[in-house]
Amino acid sequence: MRRFHSGPVAKLMSDSTSVKHDASNFIRDMIAADIKSGKTRQVITRFPPEPNGYLHIGHAKSICLNFGVARNFNGYCNLRFDDTNPEKESVEYVNSIRRDVEWLGFKWHSNPFASDYFNQLYEYALILIKQGDAYVDSQSAEDIRANRGTLKQPGIEGPWRDRSIDENLELFEDMKAGKYADGEHVLRAKIDMKSGNINMRDPIIYRIRHVSHHNTGDKWCIYPLYDFTHGLSDAIEGVTHSLCTLEFEDHRPLYDWILDRLKNDIPARPEQTEFARLQLEYSLTSKRKLNQLVVDGHVNGWDDPRMLTISGMRRRGFTAESIVTFCGMIGITKKDSHIEMGVLENALRDDLNRRAERRMAVINPLKVIIENYPEQQTEMVTGVNHPQNPDYGSREIPFSREIYIEQDDFMEDAPKKFFRLSVGREVRLRFAYYITCKEVVKNDDGSINSLICSYDPESRGGKSADGRKVKGTIHWVSAHHAVNARVNLYDRLFNTTNPGAEENSVSTLNPDSNIVADDAKLEPAIQLTDNKLAYQFERLGYFISDSESTDDRPIFNRTMTLRDSWARIGKS
Ligand code: ATP
Ligand code: MG
Repeated sequence: MRRFHSGPVAKLMSDSTSVKHDASNFIRDMIAADIKSGKTRQVITRFPPEPNGYLHIGHAKSICLNFGVARNFNGYCNLRFDDTNPEKESVEYVNSIRRDVEWLGFKWHSNPFASDYFNQLYEYALILIKQGDAYVDSQSAEDIRANRGTLKQPGIEGPWRDRSIDENLELFEDMKAGKYADGEHVLRAKIDMKSGNINMRDPIIYRIRHVSHHNTGDKWCIYPLYDFTHGLSDAIEGVTHSLCTLEFEDHRPLYDWILDRLKNDIPARPEQTEFARLQLEYSLTSKRKLNQLVVDGHVNGWDDPRMLTISGMRRRGFTAESIVTFCGMIGITKKDSHIEMGVLENALRDDLNRRAERRMAVINPLKVIIENYPEQQTEMVTGVNHPQNPDYGSREIPFSREIYIEQDDFMEDAPKKFFRLSVGREVRLRFAYYITCKEVVKNDDGSINSLICSYDPESRGGKSADGRKVKGTIHWVSAHHAVNARVNLYDRLFNTTNPGAEENSVSTLNPDSNIVADDAKLEPAIQLTDNKLAYQFERLGYFISDSESTDDRPIFNRTMTLRDSWARIGKS
């Protein structure tokens, strides 16, 4: 397997020996200390997505952390929409985010929009202006950008920086009243144009945008920027611990500056702590990048089962429990790292292995005719629904003269160690009989059409009367009773371990990420729509009905392959 390394990465391997289940981490330790010292009385956290896309697996990490610590310390967590970019946000995203958080099993205390605080934020901006801490700048966007300097060069103070407080107040009110066009003025915090931290070089805190907002409609034509909004929203909600990802570390001085300047006016003083984003091999975990895949049509929407969005994973058959378990396994650190996809896959396999009912399905069918089995006869054989859990009970499976087996389970010139079917060899049909292959029927072009076999009537249930053993056991479906289905054989969306680092991540899309099997045969006991949990199709993997599956046109998604099938006995 190719490995991804970038500097000193602490990499979590899929091999479970290196997986940490320990729930303790530096953030929990910090909060415990804050409680002990009396600094914090009730822990209040928030999960603050911008409703500009669907949630992804990275958000699950932040959700588990924010809701998890609140629960651990008997506090609470808000789901707050940080909605300060009206052009990019929508009610569709708001609703999907609520649905996903609930589906993961978390309950928020309240569910505000940052935009609910626009009045209050405006008042805070007025206070900053009155204190001489903010000014209206009338430079063009290009000049503002140019004068901001670079990492190596300090910024330059603009010509409007020393406007009088009265002039600033009047201009800001006129901005709010709609007297100016987009971009004519902005409100900037007056900090330090020479700061080594570019975020502190008089950051813009309000801008003019004559656009409707999904929550506030046309009430506002000035909108506060994220950095201004975020910390103050935390303060308004009484958030004690504002947990965010490392890219906000350089913004913390600004977060603190704003709260310090308004310390006499805010109801509480939150503190920001950063942790490493989740980065998963073979995937992208940023809404913006995922949005690009959707917009450019590389995937079929946000809930495409190959996307590691929460909705895509749900459609793919992931369980909420396995996602939460995964988030616990990877832990919380300050160091960037890439997690192997196998860690996530194994968390899912473990959960489904425990919970999924077993069924039989044939993905690439090969017809078998059992010549000594009576025509027109059908008998029912009993299949257990879960080999380790008798509580799951059993089901009756129809058996008849013509069945389908997997093409892969037959080989013409088979080596000695091929324990499946070949002419002259005998295998066990799962739950049914021993069969022996007599003859291969071919099409004109030489391809295999079907097999003629015989069965041993004395081997019902999979045991021969004379104690004769066979090494291979294969799955099958009765041809007459089979339900035809389309099966999506999903695989990883990207071919490269770190597509986000590629200049053009689209060029590394895996062309084989959705192989379709159009002629799959399912045993009749498989429910065709609205499955709550994936099935294990024996020897093949875990499969769940797609959200578009109907009784007339069944569609199944492969959730995950089996790590190791019971076909250890059936496979060579
Ligand atoms: P965008 O690309 O639009 O910035 P995003 O994927 O970063 O989107 P946000 O809405 O900015 O998502 O993030 C909401 C919250 O989730 C933030 O607190 C952010 O720190 C956290 N978060 C986002 N991505 C990850 C990730 N990969 N791992 C852990 N937390 C994340
Ligand atoms: Mg972000």
